[in-house]
Order: sequence, then C-alpha cells, then structure tokens
Amino acid sequence: MNYLLEIDNISTAYGHSQVLFGVNLQIPQGEVVSLLGRNGAGKTTTLRSIFGLTPAYQGHISFMGQHIEKLTTDRIARLGIALVPEGRQIFPNLTVKENMLAFATNRNNSKTPWGLEQIYQLFPRLAERASNMGNQLSGGEQQMLAISRALMTNPHLLILDEATEGLSPLVREEIWSCLRKLREQGQTILVIDKYVEKLIPLANHHAIMERGKIVWQGNSEQLAATPETWQKYVGV
Ligand code: ATP
Repeated sequence: MNYLLEIDNISTAYGHSQVLFGVNLQIPQGEVVSLLGRNGAGKTTTLRSIFGLTPAYQGHISFMGQHIEKLTTDRIARLGIALVPEGRQIFPNLTVKENMLAFATNRNNSKTPWGLEQIYQLFPRLAERASNMGNQLSGGEQQMLAISRALMTNPHLLILDEATEGLSPLVREEIWSCLRKLREQGQTILVIDKYVEKLIPLANHHAIMERGKIVWQGNSEQLAATPETWQKYVGV
C-alpha cells in the first residue's frame, strides 16, 4: 500500500503529562481519512505531532517516504502538509485576497495549481468579499478563507481540525460540499470532525481515538454498521 502519511507508534507528552500512547494511523494517497473521538481524546495532539508543534518523543512519522518526526514545523509545511487549524487563525488586518496571496505557492508541483480564480469558483462568497478585511468576515466566511489559504499552498495533504465547529447548518453544508469536491479532485485529506453521518459518505477510512489511543479503525461500511461504536467513543 502506498501511504502518503504513516504514523507509526507515536507517543507524545506535554511536559510530564503523556497524552498519546502508541498511535498508529495511515493515510493513503488520494483518500480521505477521518479522525474521531470525544473532546480531549488526543486528536489535536496527533495533528500537533504530525506538524512538529508538539513532537512525538517516541515512534516515527513518515511523509512521502521520509521521516519527519524530527523536522521543524516550517520544514514539514514546506514538504506539502497544510493545516486548517481549530479557530481558523486568519490575518484580521489583511484583506481576503491578501490572506490568500500571502500563502500562494505550489508545494505539490501541480500543473493546475490553486489560484484566486479557482478559489472563487469553489467559494463564490469569497469573491464578493475579496477586498474585505479578515476581521469583517462571518464565521463561515472565515472558515472558507482558512481552507482556501491552505489550498493556495497546493498541499499534498490537507488537514482540517474541526472545520465545521460553531457554524450554522447551512454553512456547514457548504464546507462539506467543498470537501466532496476536493476529494473528487484527488486531494488527500485528514479530517477531524464530530459529524459521523457526514463523514461516512465523505471519508474512505475512519479512526476513533480515546485516551490517547486509536481504539477502532475501519472503512465507512464498517462504521455505518456499528452505530454503537460511535455512541461509545464519539458520543453522538
Ligand atoms: P478537543 O476536541 O477538545 O481539542 P482532542 O481530541 O483534540 O480534543 P487534545 O486537544 O489532543 O484532544 O487533548 C488531549 C489531552 O491533552 C487532553 O487531556 C488535554 O487536556 C491535554 N492537553 C492538550 N493540550 C495541552 C497542553 N498544551 N498542555 C497540557 N495538556 C494539554
């Protein structure tokens, strides 16, 4: 199997407090993988370890065949991993267009890289808001901008941490629809979210975390067939 990202038995701690206990996760090229679990299960910490923000003290993380667990966040990002962080973190004092252009680069050497035109087709709302400042946007528009900014780096792997958090059902639908389009284009995605019923048709593979461990893994068919699993570990 050709994995784009392979997390092999990582353990991570904040100071003396161990949070991840031997996490294994594989993300195949061109697929969408979901990471599920209750608050505090260790999902964000797994992302922080992938990015070198809170490096794993044990285990390996391979990206396109290269060990990255000892690299700096900056180098990891330049290899072509883009994070849409929880809380969006867009620049409030830059316009929508400037926010995107600040990130424009072609990390996966795409022949048809993301540019403003393609982004505006994906999210027409951002075209209307192009000269608005980041802090003048609604929560949904900020989220669209956060996703667009990540896409402007043309990443091999796009990671979304709770991208639909705090959004209205209508705007959430726009985000899901965007992710479906990205999947159709072959974008590899790791998505953390709590809407299992939305993730089942979107993702190919699902992993559930509890107390810093992966406690269940399977495909969409298997997840759909075991609602008791979600109730137990995800609480929906
Ligand atoms: P959430 O959806 O609430 O972010 P999560 O599954 O992403 O949940 P993490 O944020 O990875 O969970 O948190 C896992 C554990 O690590 C929790 O017990 C949390 O209290 C702890 N933790 C998170 N960040 C820190 C930190 N900076 N210092 C110490 N402990 C932390």
